[in-house]
Amino acid sequence: MRVCLFLALIAILTASDLIAQQRLEPEVSQIENDDLYLTEEQEIILQLMEERGLDPEKVTFEGVDVIYDGDMYFHKSVLLLEKELKDCSHSKQRRYANLVLNENVKDIRIQIDSTVSSAWVSAISDALQAYRDLPSCSINFYVVENSPDVVITEKWLGWMRYGYAYGPVNGMPGTNVFVGKYARLNHSERVFTVVHELGHIVGMAHTDDANHTLIRSTPESDENSVFNSAQGTWNGFSYWDVNALRWLYPDVEK
Ligand SMILES: [Zn+2]
Repeated sequence: MRVCLFLALIAILTASDLIAQQRLEPEVSQIENDDLYLTEEQEIILQLMEERGLDPEKVTFEGVDVIYDGDMYFHKSVLLLEKELKDCSHSKQRRYANLVLNENVKDIRIQIDSTVSSAWVSAISDALQAYRDLPSCSINFYVVENSPDVVITEKWLGWMRYGYAYGPVNGMPGTNVFVGKYARLNHSERVFTVVHELGHIVGMAHTDDANHTLIRSTPESDENSVFNSAQGTWNGFSYWDVNALRWLYPDVEK
């Protein structure tokens, strides 16, 4: 009898050990770098991202940046500040952390940094116009020389990467858009890239990423969306892109 109990105990311990190992595996695969352990700060950030409905397995860490799905950048200090604000709040009011307040979205000041070459400047100009032309949508970008909300900078991003952008925080748009230096893109592809990245700064996620909250009144997928994760050619916003942007930022007078 004692032997049986002993064997049963061994079996239970082995099983629980296996379960513990299985639980550990996803945590290790959450980071693509060589670190096998997450810092406390990284764990808090992953938890915050998950609370926003984002998939922790698509989060990577790179210095001060928290990167989601390859090209959506968040500064870690901003995410940690949000955690602080959340912890201090005793009220039940809730807000969408990753959208821009309607009063701010009407007036987004864009500064084009001196690093940006003429090919990108021309694409930025067309992309900003595309947003201005959106019917019944309050998003409005305009170019300023100083005191910007958003700075567009050109820098080397590798051969296969053309842009990335920060998402909105505390009701304000993401603060930075980066476009690729030496990008081998034609004008139409550059416009596509800038329209896509400007979408991120006002809170648009990738259309083809099922982990994000589906915007009401849009379908499960849209191959013509400029907000799909793959690089494309600019042919205007898709029908459903327009619906989604209007839904998030409506302006009945425009
Ligand atoms: Zn993107």
